[in-house]
Amino acid sequence: MTSIVVKRYYSSYNTFNNMNMSTENSEDQIANFLKVLGQPVRIQIVLIIGENDACVCHLEAILGIRQARISQHLIALRNAGIVSTRRDGRHIYYRLENPKILDLVYQTAEMLQIDAAPLKASSNRIEPGCVCPRCAKEMAEC
Ligand SMILES: [Zn+2]
Repeated sequence: MTSIVVKRYYSSYNTFNNMNMSTENSEDQIANFLKVLGQPVRIQIVLIIGENDACVCHLEAILGIRQARISQHLIALRNAGIVSTRRDGRHIYYRLENPKILDLVYQTAEMLQIDAAPLKASSNRIEPGCVCPRCAKEMAEC
C-alpha cells in the first residue's frame, strides 16, 4: 500500500519536473533571444540584411571577416529564428524572419542616444568590389 503511494508521488513529481524543463517561461525566452543577438557582429549582420536579402559574399565584403566565421553566426541566428534562408541558383540568401528586429535595434540605439542613421544606411549599402548579384548589378549601372 505504502509503495503504491510513493510511486504515485514520484510519478507526479517527475511530470512536474518535465513540464518545467520543456516549457520556458517568458523571461527565459526573451533572455535566450537577446543572448543570441547580443554580439556586435550579429547586430551588424541583422542591420546589413535589413529589409533585403543578402548572401554570405555580401556580408563578407562588408564585414571583412572570413565566410566560415560569418556562417557560424548565421547558423546561430537561424537556429534562433532570427534569419531564414532562400536558395537561388548557386547563391543562398539570408533574410530577416521578422523585420521588427530592426526596430528593436534602432530603438535600443535611440535609448542609448546613438545616431541610428548610419545603422539604417547599412541595410542598403552597395559595396564596391562585392561580387554578389545585387552589388554587381548596381555597379554595372553606374
Ligand atoms: Zn554585395
